Amino acid sequence: GPGFDPESVRRDFPVLHRTVNGHPLVWLDNGATTQKPRQVIETLAGFYATANSNIHRGAHTMAREATEAYEGSRAAVASFLGAASPDDIVFTRGTTEAVNLVAQTWGRAQLGAGDEILVPVLEHHSNIVPWQMIAKERRARVVPVPLLPDGQIDRTAFADLLSYRTQLVALSHASNVLGTVPAVREMIALAHRYGARVLVDGAQAVAHFPVDVQELDADFYVFSGHKLFGPTGIGALYGKPEVLAALRPWQGGGNMIDSVEFGRTTFAPVPHLLEAGTGNIAGAVGLHAAIDWLTSLDRTAVTAYEKALTEYAVAALATVPGLELLGSAPERISVLTFTVAGYDPAAVAEWLDRDGIAVRAGHHCAQPALRHYGVESAARASLALYNTRREVDTLVASLHSMQQGV
Ligand code: PMP
Repeated sequence: GPGFDPESVRRDFPVLHRTVNGHPLVWLDNGATTQKPRQVIETLAGFYATANSNIHRGAHTMAREATEAYEGSRAAVASFLGAASPDDIVFTRGTTEAVNLVAQTWGRAQLGAGDEILVPVLEHHSNIVPWQMIAKERRARVVPVPLLPDGQIDRTAFADLLSYRTQLVALSHASNVLGTVPAVREMIALAHRYGARVLVDGAQAVAHFPVDVQELDADFYVFSGHKLFGPTGIGALYGKPEVLAALRPWQGGGNMIDSVEFGRTTFAPVPHLLEAGTGNIAGAVGLHAAIDWLTSLDRTAVTAYEKALTEYAVAALATVPGLELLGSAPERISVLTFTVAGYDPAAVAEWLDRDGIAVRAGHHCAQPALRHYGVESAARASLALYNTRREVDTLVASLHSMQQGV
């Protein structure tokens, strides 16, 4: 293939060339959100400058063009995820809204007293709390699937917990705090043997490796545009066609109806059924640009580059006295969550910020995962394809100087 050159990719990202506190920015908070290439920024600005219109309403040229752009993005998301049809894709605000949509539609219709939802301990709060909410309403139970010491899901425990009470397994394709990439395809196949559905949270996966929902046999797959070099406020839900077709409406309003009468209202088919009101049209167009940008790269080479960079970072961080990485599973993305003995994680992040290095400190919306390691808070350096060994060296040098008090 054409290979991968991080330096040439960096030129696409204007923000990577700014300084923070007098130092060149080192953006290592990609798990929270990724930066945007100029192709996405220019597409967003161009939409508002030349093409802004609402969609599906009024037969004028710009409404038709905006409709085509919106539906074109849906088709791009479908092919990006390996879905069979654009109709299998529902636009949402992001991962969180997509999980809530499934909980409030599929969950409300499907869950009954005593039913179980299996959720690995490492999940993001947005893949725990919506299930707790609907489980309470339906008198179902959310059952945690334990982790092994290295941060992998305990597959033996998972197999033991599965039963004919299991209605759903909700698990992430890559953990935002431990970086763990579980054997999702095998876990889905096992869950299906019990007739359970599986929702895969791809928020941290899609920027790091190619995804094929049909190959995984996922029932639902969700992600956020802003972690994929795209805009905030746009994301997607993939659902198997037969599963989506059975869903009742969620929010009511324009765009999701066929005909409205006070006596009786009829509805549009999915995906429009689940997209009440004016969507994030510019966001969808920007997401399409992000997908085009990412898929124009040699993704095999990108994944290999990130893997080598992660190995380099793990080795470099090991030179910092008292630094402990959370999670050491072999299958992982470039997320490095750590504690430094004697330092509050917030103070670590503050120190690094003075050197222009952006890392996140806190619980990372995954408190059960941190508590598995006996901590309430940690620092996290999450790398993207535009990060370099030089930036890893800057991070490690700053951590060394923190300990030397200089
Ligand atoms: N799941 C995972 C694994 C995540 O990393 C995140 C974002 N940190 C979310 C869900 C939530 O995504 P959003 O806030 O974009 O809805």
